[in-house]
Amino acid sequence: MALLGRARGEIAERVRNILPEGRALSDDLWERRHDGLVRLIWAHVLGLLLFGLIRGYPLGHTLIDVVPLAALAALAKSTFPSRRMRSSVAAVGLVACSAVLVHLSGGAIEAHFHFFVMVGLLSLYQEWLPFLLAIGFVVLHHGVLGAIFPRGVYGHPAAIAHPWTWALIHGLFVLAASVANILAWRLNEHQALHDGLTGLPNRVLLTDRIEHALDRRDDNRLVGVLFLDLDGFKSVNDTMGHAAGDELLCEVTRRLLGAIRLGDTCARLGGDEFAILLDDLEANGAALHAADRILELLAEPFLLGRHKVTVSASIGVALCMAGGATADDALRNADMAMYSAKRHGKARVEIYEPAMHAALLRQVELESDLKVALEQHQFAVHYQPIVNLTDNSVHGFEALLRWQHPRRGLVSPAEFIPRAEETGLIVPLGAWVLEQAAQQLAAWQWAHPERVVEMSVNLSARQLQDEGLVGIVSSVLQETGIDPARLTLEITESTLMSDSWQNETRLESLHALGVKLAIDDFGTGYSAMSYLRRFRVDVLKVDKSFVDELLRGPEDRALAAAVVTMARAVHMLTVAEGIESAGQLATLQSLGCDLGQGYYFSRPLPAEAAGDLLMTERMVLQSRATQSA
Ligand code: C2E
Ligand code: MG
Ligand code: MG
Repeated sequence: MALLGRARGEIAERVRNILPEGRALSDDLWERRHDGLVRLIWAHVLGLLLFGLIRGYPLGHTLIDVVPLAALAALAKSTFPSRRMRSSVAAVGLVACSAVLVHLSGGAIEAHFHFFVMVGLLSLYQEWLPFLLAIGFVVLHHGVLGAIFPRGVYGHPAAIAHPWTWALIHGLFVLAASVANILAWRLNEHQALHDGLTGLPNRVLLTDRIEHALDRRDDNRLVGVLFLDLDGFKSVNDTMGHAAGDELLCEVTRRLLGAIRLGDTCARLGGDEFAILLDDLEANGAALHAADRILELLAEPFLLGRHKVTVSASIGVALCMAGGATADDALRNADMAMYSAKRHGKARVEIYEPAMHAALLRQVELESDLKVALEQHQFAVHYQPIVNLTDNSVHGFEALLRWQHPRRGLVSPAEFIPRAEETGLIVPLGAWVLEQAAQQLAAWQWAHPERVVEMSVNLSARQLQDEGLVGIVSSVLQETGIDPARLTLEITESTLMSDSWQNETRLESLHALGVKLAIDDFGTGYSAMSYLRRFRVDVLKVDKSFVDELLRGPEDRALAAAVVTMARAVHMLTVAEGIESAGQLATLQSLGCDLGQGYYFSRPLPAEAAGDLLMTERMVLQSRATQSA
């Protein structure tokens, strides 16, 4: 039974694939076409009236012929609620014009050609019913009237003798003309509604199908929309060429089609973006399950030519329930969830939540606010002391950027630095931080000539890619006159690994200026130690997560201890980040860690407070330490 149902479903799907979709016309376009066709009926009313009079029919006779046409034209323009009703009336009106022409020309065969013109025009509606009505009208009209007034319908003896046979023959011709028109409609529609490369439905068709799914859905079932964006597609395109990119998209399409059920729709929205409509779901779990299956299928490497390529996808899921949601809402929500999946590390699935909308708005706002923040002096640099762990003296400071937003208050760098990176604003902003920090260092050197103070400044990946970086650092050194050896540039481990060739030459040039380089957040990135030899690094900043673990179980401690010991073994200066307790400090001291930084000593401070600290350092640091302990 189930097998039979499945087979029926498959046949229905095949037929659906062969036949035109219809419904693709927007209301506006449909109205314009309908208007044009109704006007054509009116033109016939006038034309046929004249034609009848010229042919010598009495006015009364001609009026009896054309008044029904006028009535149909008026009816077609009336306020029937559905398109289908109005197009049906207009269709009957149009073929009736042909019938009247045939009648007024005494059944001349040439007048019958007029039917074919009308059938062609009916295809403008992109609906089925008008064609069926036209065929039915022709058969009935030719049969009934042909039997009653054969000479008003047919101009040759065979037809006059057998009006119903010839009604059927004419009907068959109209059917053939309809099929030809429907075929052209179908091909045009396919072109307009499908993607040229993959043959998948495009956004227009998908939106239409989602709309229908939303209308059809009964109350306790769901419609799911998945929005999928490939991770890493651009690099395939860039490195292997567009032909390989196209091949990848086609292979992805095949896998996606293999992952969905019959009746679901997989569409390509452009570039490497796909969307899938999951119709009629029983529970939310089903959509997630489908998304996971897709991730699994895409995880298998792709064979492009002789190269194996791995890509992944970020998927956003929107689930729609009864009422409210439109197709555009569903797609937009799924898109937002996809964006969130990308931002949370790619190759994952996220379900849309209303909070995402607010988060996205906040980000867009944040980005535009960032653009003016530098000009409007909303940024400040704070300084966190880096302490010598052997005697608790201040070794130097790390410059940390702060954004005092006029409405939102203090915004965390963790939130705005990634945005500044994406927009490229980090380049001028980072240069500004460097300048501020170097000027501050120069001021402290001047105020405390007896002290050796160092300054650390963070560099982002984007700054490291910037050609002007070396020039900026060198001119800051020149302008402020600071000793380059007292300036440390911090680069995170993952930045260092991401684009090694470019980084390598740029780091060499920075080294040549005499500044020191530190690896920030050490231990969180690739943990491939070989790069410590390749890049000339002076300082390792052990990430806070290891310091946090020092006092946990013996195994956690062993790992953290190993990282500190390893850093010491490669003869680099070791800084422990995020020291928060006396216990952590004692352990780090026992492991022989050189320097430390953390709330236990001091939070990042405004320049003035940091300067005060330099004067009274040991006392202040220790009293702070006892306060927070
Ligand atoms: P980071 O370079 O690893 O900086 C250390 C972060 O840890 C700072 O956060 C600091 O306030 C925080 N921290 C220090 N000690 C403790 C502690 O004991 N406990 C805890 N919980 N946190 C501690 P902040 O200032 O929020 O900066 C976050 C990140 O933003 C920085 O991490 C850095 O990657 C980035 N950043 C900050 N300023 C700049 C900048 O001027 N340029 C660039 N490119 N990145 C910056
Ligand atoms: Mg840092
Ligand atoms: Mg760090």
